[in-house]
Amino acid sequence: QAKSEGGGVHCAYEPQLHAQAEERRQLELALRDALEKDQLHVLFQPVVEAETGTVVGFEALARWTHPEMGPISPAKFVPVAEEARLIGPIGEWVLRTACMEASRWPAPVRIAVNVSAEQLSHPSFVGAVVSALAQSGLEARRLELEVTESVFVNADTGALKILDQLRGLGVQLSLDDFGTGYSSLGYLSRTRFDTIKIDRSFVVGASNNKAESLAIIRAVVTLADSLGMATTAEGVETETELAMVRGLGCRKVQGYYFGRPMPAVEAAALFPADQLRARA
Ligand code: C2E
Ligand code: MG
Ligand code: MG
Ligand code: MG
Repeated sequence: QAKSEGGGVHCAYEPQLHAQAEERRQLELALRDALEKDQLHVLFQPVVEAETGTVVGFEALARWTHPEMGPISPAKFVPVAEEARLIGPIGEWVLRTACMEASRWPAPVRIAVNVSAEQLSHPSFVGAVVSALAQSGLEARRLELEVTESVFVNADTGALKILDQLRGLGVQLSLDDFGTGYSSLGYLSRTRFDTIKIDRSFVVGASNNKAESLAIIRAVVTLADSLGMATTAEGVETETELAMVRGLGCRKVQGYYFGRPMPAVEAAALFPADQLRARA
């Protein structure tokens, strides 16, 4: 298409593509290095019960601080890791670290870990979950795995089988960033999810009184209720947003209003010391 508009356009953007590919390659090399040199770490963001304000869980979020480039956002490095087939080892490291940390928390508190579609194309992932649970001593029902709709897009039956096996282990499954991908209600009948996470874009929209966002949250909550699933509103930053999503019936909330992603020691400090267990 660019070509038909004349050679000038073609020439102007090709070097840019080249630079992007080069940046990606550099990031990939640096990321391989980071994995070996322990430059990755995990932060924990509280998930709160809307009605009571009680912390019911945390979401584990990967962080990468490069010695020269500084902090690199997961929005940037996760896609690189996915493409470079590094998300497997990185994701399993996050999973082990997160389960180990969560095993110290009071028993009902859960840990949610993000899982890329790419990870679900490897049957060995189930074994990685089994061993992360065994190593940490964490009960399966306290682990929540977050997947996005992208898992279903190329609907390979392998991924669906793995989700079933994970359910069989007793872990919880959440559908992350709901409404931002290629949403199809059919996904909800193919796999049983425990929680639907409503994307921050709808929370923002609804608090600005955008009729569509309000209607979408309302519909998702109704649907989740009737299918026996919980809902979590993501990215709640203000009192107004909290009041709004609570009023719409979201059971759980997560966002800067309650806490930013924080180091493990700060997460543990939210519980009375006598409720913490010794490290496994
Ligand atoms: P996500 O799973 O939807 O995670 C929520 C993101 O929203 C996090 O960004 C979190 O810091 C941000 N957030 C939380 N509360 C607020 C708020 O009140 N306001 C705003 N504006 N943002 C809020 P983060 O940590 O940058 O992660 C971005 C995405 O990277 C995650 O989205 C997830 O898809 C991916 N990711 C992070 N860690 C991992 C991982 O270990 N494995 C995989 N596969 N993906 C990961
Ligand atoms: Mg998530
Ligand atoms: Mg999310
Ligand atoms: Mg997100």
